[in-house]
Amino acid sequence: MSFLALMVLIVYESRWVYPEIQAYFSQTGNLTGQQLATRSRVYLQNAQSELLADQPEQEAFAAAITDIELSYGLSDMHVYRHQYECTEPSLRILNRVLARLEVAEIDRVGAVGELFGPIQCLTHIEMDQLDQRGAAINDFSVSTRQHNQVLTYSSLLIFVMGLVFWWLHERQLRRTDHATQETFEWMQRAMRDPLTGIGNRSALHQDVLAKQHQSLGLILIDIDFFKQYNDAYGHPQGDTLLRQLATLIGETLNDEAQLYRLGGDEFAALLRCPDTETLKSYCCQLIEGIRAADFAHPAHPDKKGVTFSVGGSRFMADEATFAYAYEAADKALYRVKAAGRDGWQVTEDA
Ligand code: GH3
Ligand code: MG
Repeated sequence: MSFLALMVLIVYESRWVYPEIQAYFSQTGNLTGQQLATRSRVYLQNAQSELLADQPEQEAFAAAITDIELSYGLSDMHVYRHQYECTEPSLRILNRVLARLEVAEIDRVGAVGELFGPIQCLTHIEMDQLDQRGAAINDFSVSTRQHNQVLTYSSLLIFVMGLVFWWLHERQLRRTDHATQETFEWMQRAMRDPLTGIGNRSALHQDVLAKQHQSLGLILIDIDFFKQYNDAYGHPQGDTLLRQLATLIGETLNDEAQLYRLGGDEFAALLRCPDTETLKSYCCQLIEGIRAADFAHPAHPDKKGVTFSVGGSRFMADEATFAYAYEAADKALYRVKAAGRDGWQVTEDA
């Protein structure tokens, strides 16, 4: 709002300059007034010179009459009559002198003396017109200075306000960026399993939705007798094993799969899978991988190292088929558990 007011002020100040210059030059009335008075006075002085010149009286009078008439014409102005009290009496004197010169009822010296009054009046008019001109120029330069100051300060203020607005805008932008970044990080964290760093159940759902209409394999991996492992080594060691197994599963599937921990000792892998044979080969690799890793498990009932039970299913990704695929993989896993663990099964055509 105040910004708008400043703009209006600047426009007003700018618009002021032109009319003011016009007003200044309209003072030409005064300038002309001064010039006319000067000429009129010069004619009267010429008349005096003619009268005092060494020439016949008749010629001197004729020349003086011409000069006085010219002077009269220039000083018989409404402005002079209106503004200067001496104008009317001067004009009357000139009329009287003219009349007496025409009939030669005045001598030369007398006529010269009569003209001093009007000359004095015209000099006064000249001086006064000059003063008026000076005052007008002075007023103009004072108000020009004031308006220039207003323009300068207003422009400076607008510049400073612009800087402040820019700074506020930048600060707001930085805050928004920071908040967006924080939200993004929180969302990332909300999709991760804090223990192993791989995705969680929500991430699995999200990734399936992002791969709509692709042929995917879902593999569920559950550690066999993990409870006994915890009992034997303690929970911290159990946590370490969970992290090691997350790494092992990733390496075994050649990092082609996206990995998730669904909770407890259950992992999931999601990968592109054009056919069931490919899915079977991934499951097989997992079983062989854990066997080759040969993690110790002193409490394993079958006296083996750490083993997996793996169940898989293949599906065309979308929201509805995923639920079936998950159930199918889980059933396959259950069948492996029921069959003695340390093995894999897949459900065809989930
Ligand atoms: P099964 O072969 O039938 O799977 O036997 P299991 O002992 O593995 O049984 P189950 O999978 O039902 O048990 C999972 C165990 O995993 C139970 C719990 O003690 C353990 N567990 C769950 N979450 C964690 C965890 O975050 N850290 C550790 N160290 N252990 C966990
Ligand atoms: Mg288990």
